[in-house]
Amino acid sequence: MLDCFSMQSSMARLYIAASRAWLDSTLRKVEQARLYLEAMTSPPSPARRLRRWLLSGALLLAAGIAALSLWNSPWAAAPKMLWALGRMPPATELPVPVDGVRPRQIADTFGAPRGSDRTHAGIDIFGKRGTPVRSVTAGVIADVSERGLGGRQVWVIGPGRERYYYAHLEDWAEGLARGQVVQAGQLLGHVGDSGNAKGTPPHLHWGIYGKDGARDPLPLLR
Ligand SMILES: [Zn+2]
Repeated sequence: MLDCFSMQSSMARLYIAASRAWLDSTLRKVEQARLYLEAMTSPPSPARRLRRWLLSGALLLAAGIAALSLWNSPWAAAPKMLWALGRMPPATELPVPVDGVRPRQIADTFGAPRGSDRTHAGIDIFGKRGTPVRSVTAGVIADVSERGLGGRQVWVIGPGRERYYYAHLEDWAEGLARGQVVQAGQLLGHVGDSGNAKGTPPHLHWGIYGKDGARDPLPLLR
């Protein structure tokens, strides 16, 4: 009986001690949380301010380095060129895009009637089949495709973001692709008779489209 009582009381003491320990640790945690919240909401010390300032400076520097390396990567070549082209004025003097042809050999047919419902929105530059056709300006290739009246064609975005149209090509320069940056004089393809020129003497149909639509390329040729 006595043994049983003493065992029960020792068990009770154990419970009380355990409860007190739990209460103590809980109170400590609450106090820690309060101190933490106080530190968070109190004005930062000069050391903390300096740390924060250094951290944001380092982040800014890292972002700057990342942006710079992206800007200098091949991925940025076309956007960079487009940006530069947008800042250039439209071309006022251009070479002939077909090798070996002089401006005076080219007929002034811009605006001439074509069929009953359209006019010639460019000029035709005749040459032997397979004669190289070159980009007259630096630019970005906007399209390389075979379709419609133009047949095998290339569109180049040039100075002032004007669109240069090279049509009726026999073929394209190897590897030529949309989004590619080209330099003035770079090979685009060769003279042919694709599209609605099929069966006519091979020639390049060449057009320049500005803000106000097609403009006559002939007066620009040197
Ligand atoms: Zn034409």
